[in-house]
Amino acid sequence: MALIVQKYGGTSVGNVERIKVVAQKVKATKEAGNDVVVVLSAMSGETNRMIALAKQFNEHPSQREMDVLLTTGEQTTIALLTMALHDLDIDAVSMTGDQIRMKTDGSHGKARILDVETENLQQHLQKGRIVVVAGFQGRSPENNITTLGRGGSDTSAVAIAAALKADECQIYTDVDGVYTTDPRVEPNARRLDSITFEEMLEMASLGTKVLQIRSVEFAGKYNVPLRVLSSFKDGGGTLISYEENKMESPVISGIAFNRDEARLTLSGVPDQPTVAAQILSPICGANIDVDMIVQNTLGDGKTDFTFTVHNDDYLHAKELLEEVCVRLGAKSVQGSSDIAKVSIVGVGMWNHPGVAKTMFETLGQEGINIHQITTSEIKISVLVDSKYLELAVRSLHKAFELDVEPKEEK
Ligand code: ASP
Ligand code: MG
Repeated sequence: MALIVQKYGGTSVGNVERIKVVAQKVKATKEAGNDVVVVLSAMSGETNRMIALAKQFNEHPSQREMDVLLTTGEQTTIALLTMALHDLDIDAVSMTGDQIRMKTDGSHGKARILDVETENLQQHLQKGRIVVVAGFQGRSPENNITTLGRGGSDTSAVAIAAALKADECQIYTDVDGVYTTDPRVEPNARRLDSITFEEMLEMASLGTKVLQIRSVEFAGKYNVPLRVLSSFKDGGGTLISYEENKMESPVISGIAFNRDEARLTLSGVPDQPTVAAQILSPICGANIDVDMIVQNTLGDGKTDFTFTVHNDDYLHAKELLEEVCVRLGAKSVQGSSDIAKVSIVGVGMWNHPGVAKTMFETLGQEGINIHQITTSEIKISVLVDSKYLELAVRSLHKAFELDVEPKEEK
């Protein structure tokens, strides 16, 4: 007998009909001989609706009260699904994050999970019951209700699966798996049968929004096999695990992209120790995330320093950098928010030396200029003008033959 944790997202429990469909799926899993724990999101749109409600009272409401409010979304769906299961004569019980003792730290709105007690859950499972747990929530050491950040139910599900040593954590959503790239940009994108944690982590942090990134980190850390599936469409979904593809390992598994990038350059900075730290410290002090840092020295005692930030932080970062420019006696600040990042990701890359060359040639043939490049063992990212994003993704998808089904290994 296997233990399966199933998480259903907001659209999967978006209305009464959908909740009845989920109840049937859960029933089928149970009747196939598995123990089942279900983790739910709030109905789609519900969390946003409550945030908007709160803002009618105060633009910056108390974070503690915000968490008390937002956790009710998941409390609604767990009760409703449990009722739907009862209607199907299935023994089931709902539990909030507090009731299962999901312990988190005290940072409201973005709490981190510290520990999940399994005793309560195990007792119900031993009685053959299905436990329906509210995702996205926990309890702090100060006994306050906390939430785990937007999309946090994915992480709840993985944490519960890890604590129970579940055989698989299945994330049901409105897409039927992880794709080679976003099908809205490249209609020939293909669903991947499997992908490694490392690749998924890169894809998620580079803009592929299928799973909350923390849930992938968590699953990788505790080695919980994760499967992304659709609750609307049948199919095996995508399995995320440490197992490398049984298929002939493709060089590149997917292409991720992010439109919300902005790039800033401080040029003519004195080439001296501590300068990099002095440039970045006001930016980091303003809680602005910095990515893709490049510094290049020309040997004339001066250096250019370039980095990227999220579009939303562009103007603020630029202002801060202008102050740094004056302070350090640098030449000028330049920047653009009209840029996008395109990345190719794949664990197969490390033993295929020609990958970077193929990538740059492909972009060159399309007349796309590359502003910046960064690499790691399993990814290469480039910055291009936003207007070339679609073209870059499509031409790379073709160049790396991602539209072609990989051959089965004999
Ligand atoms: N309901 C929460 C949200 O919308 C958590 C989740 O759905 O995972 O972010
Ligand atoms: Mg989600």
